[in-house]
Amino acid sequence: MIGALSAEARRLKGPIDRARRIVAFTGAGISTESGIPDFRGPGGIWTKFRPIGFDEFVASGEARREYWRRRFATLGPMERARPNRGHRAVAGLAGRGKLEAVVTQNIDGLHQRGGAPPGRVIELHGNATYARCLDCGERHEIAPIRAAFLEREEPPLCRTCGGIVKSATISFGQAMPQDAMARAEAATLACDLFMAMGSSLTVYPAAAFPLLAKRNGATLAILNRDATGLDGYADLVVHGEIGPLLGAATGVD
Ligand code: NAD
Ligand code: ZN
Repeated sequence: MIGALSAEARRLKGPIDRARRIVAFTGAGISTESGIPDFRGPGGIWTKFRPIGFDEFVASGEARREYWRRRFATLGPMERARPNRGHRAVAGLAGRGKLEAVVTQNIDGLHQRGGAPPGRVIELHGNATYARCLDCGERHEIAPIRAAFLEREEPPLCRTCGGIVKSATISFGQAMPQDAMARAEAATLACDLFMAMGSSLTVYPAAAFPLLAKRNGATLAILNRDATGLDGYADLVVHGEIGPLLGAATGVD
């Protein structure tokens, strides 16, 4: 019922209907409606804690202990969070055969749980719901790490090689995952509509993707509550809440 759409939702609907290959590029803002705070917004995690960089994590047992304390403080709420209308609307694009990929900065796994095909979700900053050994790459599940940590506050070591185990996310100063970066670049170059949603577009190299899409001839749309670093480059900028606007624009409740 187009007549019931707000002017903002209608501005989003046109390019989405016309597009054939959409990249949905998402940041922490798409998950705030699920109750997971973003980092830079009011009440954001970085207003309370200085992030622990990768070098510090590797060098210091005390930094690793603090890292895991924080991880377990935020992981519970993340595991309990449910996908919201924004995640479902993105998944709905796949149902219409329009979704080239979801490229996300988020580590919460909510796109997959919201129905986006896992093979089309590219996680630039990894995933917080499991861990990996930094030396041999072996995957470690969180539950046993949590149980052991709660008992002794000992940061986990790899059962196979004794290496340092870290949640499968990318910290400041840590190399970006090459495979995810390459897939994100390919999707960006293949899309005709690049929609950046819920990201302040200030974290590089991730924020380079919208500009790459634009230079390659795609339409660049930005949907975000606040102004972003790239509003001046976009073909379409909508300031507002992702769930209600994208849901209305795509007919997803
Ligand atoms: P950010 O905190 O820099 O920006 C979030 C943006 O989303 C803000 O500009 C804010 O205005 C907007 N926003 C918040 N709620 C919104 C809503 N409901 N509708 C529309 N816009 C909304 O986040 P970022 O750019 O993604 O970068 C922070 C980094 O922190 C990312 O790399 C990410 O890995 C990580 N992070 C992830 C999660 C998660 O997985 N859910 C949560 C916090 C931080
Ligand atoms: Zn190992």
